[in-house]
Amino acid sequence: MQRIRGVLIDVSGTVHVGDKAIPGAVQALDRLRASGIPFRFCTNTTQYSGDTLANKLRKFGFDVKREEIFTSLSACRQLIQARGLSLSLGPGGFVEALEFASGIKAHVVGKPQKAFFELAIQNMGLSLPAPTSMQATTTTGTGIVMIGDDVEQDLGGGAAELGLVRYLVQTGKYRAQDENRDAFGGLDGVFADFSAVVDHVLSQRQESK
Ligand SMILES: [Mg+2]
Repeated sequence: MQRIRGVLIDVSGTVHVGDKAIPGAVQALDRLRASGIPFRFCTNTTQYSGDTLANKLRKFGFDVKREEIFTSLSACRQLIQARGLSLSLGPGGFVEALEFASGIKAHVVGKPQKAFFELAIQNMGLSLPAPTSMQATTTTGTGIVMIGDDVEQDLGGGAAELGLVRYLVQTGKYRAQDENRDAFGGLDGVFADFSAVVDHVLSQRQESK
């Protein structure tokens, strides 16, 4: 049983479908926040700013702060800052300028790339344990959960390689048997919806105290 230190959450299909929150998701986010476990909403968009996405989620009823939204654009910014570069352009020009300045293809920084998850984890003020200590203490794990409705785009690739705790929700684009399509040796859990995952995470936290 590992102690959960942080939670990454896919947006579309996981906490809302179209312009409606998934039933129970608003309250579940409140419970997660009350627990004090840091979280980030993770989305690959470079089209919308975090502000726009935060406003959208607020319209659906979610109590969410701008800094709790982590987009491909946030990832780009964080990379730029880490490299000591500075750019101040609007979203469209920003990504192009980024590609020019750093040689990074903007579309590369998104789920399920390792770098995207690493940056999102950093953004929560957390870090992953060193690979050597992971091997020594496999029961400890990373303590970082990723929740999504897409086995490949949310839970595949970097999520699996980094050893994140991968939880699939049966909402959004989920289809029967999707859990069997995991190419990385099995998901850590499959849940009816976001609310059920949050309850599970919080019960784990109780037990590991
Ligand atoms: Mg999704």
